[in-house]
Amino acid sequence: MHRNTIRWVVIFAAFSIIGIIIIQLYWVNQAYSLGEKQFIHRVDLALNDVADNAIKFTNDTTLLVNPVQREASNYYHIEVNQPLELPVLEAMLIAAFQNHNVTTDFEYGVYDCIADTMLLGQYIRYDSSFVARPNRYATIPVEKREQSYIGVYFPKQERYLLNKMGFWIFSSAILGVVILFFAFTTFVILRQRRLSEITREFINNMTHEFKTPISTIGVSSEVLQRNNYIQSEERLLKYTQLIARENQRLKKQVEKVLQMATLEKHDFQLHKEEVNIHHIIEQAVSSVQLALDEKAGSISTRLQARQPNLEADKVHLTNIIYNLLDNAIKYSGDEPPEVLVHTTNTRQGVVITVEDKGIGIGVSDMKHIFRKFYRVSTGNRHDVKGFGLGLSYVKLMVEAHKGTIQVKSKPGIGSTFIIYLPYKS
Ligand code: ADP
Repeated sequence: MHRNTIRWVVIFAAFSIIGIIIIQLYWVNQAYSLGEKQFIHRVDLALNDVADNAIKFTNDTTLLVNPVQREASNYYHIEVNQPLELPVLEAMLIAAFQNHNVTTDFEYGVYDCIADTMLLGQYIRYDSSFVARPNRYATIPVEKREQSYIGVYFPKQERYLLNKMGFWIFSSAILGVVILFFAFTTFVILRQRRLSEITREFINNMTHEFKTPISTIGVSSEVLQRNNYIQSEERLLKYTQLIARENQRLKKQVEKVLQMATLEKHDFQLHKEEVNIHHIIEQAVSSVQLALDEKAGSISTRLQARQPNLEADKVHLTNIIYNLLDNAIKYSGDEPPEVLVHTTNTRQGVVITVEDKGIGIGVSDMKHIFRKFYRVSTGNRHDVKGFGLGLSYVKLMVEAHKGTIQVKSKPGIGSTFIIYLPYKS
């Protein structure tokens, strides 16, 4: 994928995740506030019941307006005219909380305004019902007031509310895991991307470094082959020919690796110039001559295009024709290769046809052969080596020149590759 595309995908995904986190936080907050409101409402009802019962119990006839006051969402006062005894108050509180489904620990105390003292009650723990915990003393705040009051404090209110939010905590945890995976995947993608860039650059530099010594060896071996002394020494001539042949092979492999590097590099540049397609074909034919001779094959050309000049990248165009010829020779089967290269004109461009009488390609393989690294498995039976990159390179380059490529083939009969290239791309 293109470097910029990856960057945008990551930025977009990061923004989406931030958006999801904000929405999740909003809903968690809403759910907590709702739980808190419900809690306050239930406690209010329960404590109003206690206030009513306290009035009845103490035979107090004075009417108190709004006896229940909320000091905080976990701390409440009930104003009373006469302080109650602690065991009575405890029983009233427990009954009221059970009635109104307030199921969390609480502490209570009674402030006597005349004696100015706070009588602290017990810490009542809620398990499946309310149980007094005599060892823990209530810690409710003592406030001096003009009016006696009952103080009720819920020390675990926050935890109680959080426990009621099981679904939200679960969904937040899942979201957390998704974010972790996202962060990890992004990290891996970026690291892989960097690695592949380094590898590509390395391959590019390395193969370029190889090219100079290869051509020097090529020139030197040619000079050696022409030397009279070497020509008279059969053994030496054989070795120099071997050097030339192997050097040629090495050159071919380096070319392939360079083509692969071009395939990886999506932003390659075409250096267009006026080229004669017939010259290119003749050049490519002479490059494959050695391989052709080894298999005792033949190439015939019918270069009938009246207008063979195109605006194209010379190097890539040569590689395109070379790859097709190379394949036509490689996949000839047991028979000597017979290749025909044909050109004609259309109104807007040139059509180049490379036809062979080789092993052919099955219908099911035909739609895959232009994919990178795809090789027809029977290719191996004939011990034909390759990377599966040639045709994907050809297609990429033909399309970069705004051309098209087609293939017609029948197994056992042969294949025909038809390339159309416009005069100006
Ligand atoms: P490579 O030749 O390195 O395997 P290519 O991309 O050039 O990779 O070709 C892909 C596959 O297409 C080859 O493995 C081969 O099976 C098939 N193929 C290509 N050209 C021909 C041809 N002229 N005749 C038969 N099969 C071919």
